Amino acid sequence: MTNYRDFDPELWAAIDREADRQEHNIELIASENIASAGVRAAQGSILTNKYAEGYPNKRYYGGTEYIDQVEQLAIDRVKELFGAEYANVQPHSGSQSNAAVYAALLEPGDHVLGLDLNAGGHLTHGSAVNFSGKTYQFHAYGLDDNERIDYDQVAALAAEYQPKLIVTGASAYSRFIDFDRFREIADSVGAYLMVDMAHIAGLVAAGVHPSPVGIADVVTSTTHKTLRGPRGGLILAKEELGKALNSAIFPGTQGGPLEHVIAGKAVAFYEAMQPSFKTYGQQVIANAKAMADVFAKSDLVRVVSGGTDNHLFNLDLTKTGISGKKAQNVLDSVHITTNKEAIPNEPRSPFVTSGIRIGTPAITTRGFKEAEAVEVAELILKVLANPEDEATLASVEQSVLGLTSRFPLSGIEHAN
Ligand code: PLP
Repeated sequence: MTNYRDFDPELWAAIDREADRQEHNIELIASENIASAGVRAAQGSILTNKYAEGYPNKRYYGGTEYIDQVEQLAIDRVKELFGAEYANVQPHSGSQSNAAVYAALLEPGDHVLGLDLNAGGHLTHGSAVNFSGKTYQFHAYGLDDNERIDYDQVAALAAEYQPKLIVTGASAYSRFIDFDRFREIADSVGAYLMVDMAHIAGLVAAGVHPSPVGIADVVTSTTHKTLRGPRGGLILAKEELGKALNSAIFPGTQGGPLEHVIAGKAVAFYEAMQPSFKTYGQQVIANAKAMADVFAKSDLVRVVSGGTDNHLFNLDLTKTGISGKKAQNVLDSVHITTNKEAIPNEPRSPFVTSGIRIGTPAITTRGFKEAEAVEVAELILKVLANPEDEATLASVEQSVLGLTSRFPLSGIEHAN
């Protein structure tokens, strides 16, 4: 057999081009990060060869004694990391974590509350185009005049619909969520409370963000965003829900677990227990605040809610006259990667939008501190002020390439 690269040069050329893009672009997508060499090695390991339906010591196939060790390590580590009574590390993704929780706690047609997509919620929190909105009767809550979650509206909707479950957590919300207030509201109507901490899990693990664990009945997450692990999901809960949640993952909604990915999760949880992870978490937030401050001082854009408590914020581009889609494209052309994002009361379609979302996990992993974060924000403002001016775009592109070559991916200690 020839070398795998020689065997399939077409595919490897595409992967190499993506590696090059990651090397030279400033990555500001709030849900992305740079996984360590250890995470990637575990994920690319021979564990992919093994079927292991079931759970440690309760498998359907033989030959699982070492797989059990891997999965048990991941379970024990994530329980310790977040102080959880129960953990399931098998969900293939964040969406599958949420699907399993709904399957465990709800019947089709049950009433549920979730944050509106336009206010920063996720598709799986009740969007009409998603299984969640098609299967359960979700009622959306939104933001108040200060662009913070409207807790009074949550309480009013809870009183009106008597939901069986209240879901909170977000994909594009820059403020701490008051988990205690959600608990109070859930208790007032006898509802379960689920917090989807996909975006903030790394900050929670680093101890720089309030934790929902112990307050919510169930906490779901992805493992690849601020937590910096492989792509995947997890579920944490109180012990009494463990049996129902395990059955909802397998055999309920998934087949064989991806044990190579679970090994990658075990690596990431171990990394997140190290003191350096706290430093990373603090820097993620410091960088987001430094960038948001630059934008808040500009007359050209508006920071939704006025600032950030976490790793991201949304920019309202209405005054620039360009859409989120156009801003995403023009920034991409100078190697700055962002995504278009709906603003509160968005007048445009989700494919166009009037905003962009900016997040700092990947640039922080890369080594950027506040000085570089400020420089990136200033470069973005230059582009937004002159999106058609070739000379401006060329000079910003040069500055971006200068920054990325000063912080090569090969210089990230954990990535090699
Ligand atoms: N929940 C939240 C809050 C998210 O932001 C996301 C991903 O963007 C998910 C769930 C879904 O995760 P996945 O893409 O792994 O299905």
